[in-house]
Amino acid sequence: MQEKYRALDGAIGADFQQSLTPSEAIGLLKDGVRRSTSNEINGRHRARLMEDAAEGQHPYAAVLSCIDSRAPVEQIFDAASGDLFVARVAGNVASPDLIASLEYATKYAGSKAILVLGHTRCGAVKGAWAGLQDGHLTELLGRIQPAVEATKLEVGEEDNLSNLDRCSAVNVKGTMNELRDQSAILAGLEAEGKIAIVGGVYNVATGEVEWID
Ligand SMILES: [Zn+2]
Repeated sequence: MQEKYRALDGAIGADFQQSLTPSEAIGLLKDGVRRSTSNEINGRHRARLMEDAAEGQHPYAAVLSCIDSRAPVEQIFDAASGDLFVARVAGNVASPDLIASLEYATKYAGSKAILVLGHTRCGAVKGAWAGLQDGHLTELLGRIQPAVEATKLEVGEEDNLSNLDRCSAVNVKGTMNELRDQSAILAGLEAEGKIAIVGGVYNVATGEVEWID
């Protein structure tokens, strides 16, 4: 399947998307990180991609990630136009509009996997750890608080990089569980084996992803 993907010139078509299993979709994400970190960039034909874009879209996966400028999702996975749905919000939290976007991406647009992608050195996690309250940030950072509390119990209160990065991983797991708890659609698709929900923490300094199953 990865060879078939790498041989694409234009965009992913409906047949390709529908023939993928959820674990093959995750395999494509992992191979994307490998290409991205080993300079084997899959240069696809821009004019062909745009021609295909006019016909529709059949992305293989959806990624819920942070807004951080050092975590550019398409670059991380060496993805082209039409490959991925990308939903971004500070701290990669499962707020209602984000959940709805993932419901659309999977149930209505056929994506086979959802990746919740946190990252190292996350400012939203740092803000939640410090108990920052300001404007709309208060509600958003409140969604990270369960991860902050769980991590502090485990490692203590000190806001060093290692503890904050640990909190990012705990927050990814929390978001994965929120998707299942808050969305009957996503939980149902996962239970039927039609999609997989996985997590990862992107390392902004190395370009690698640490996977969380
Ligand atoms: Zn972040």
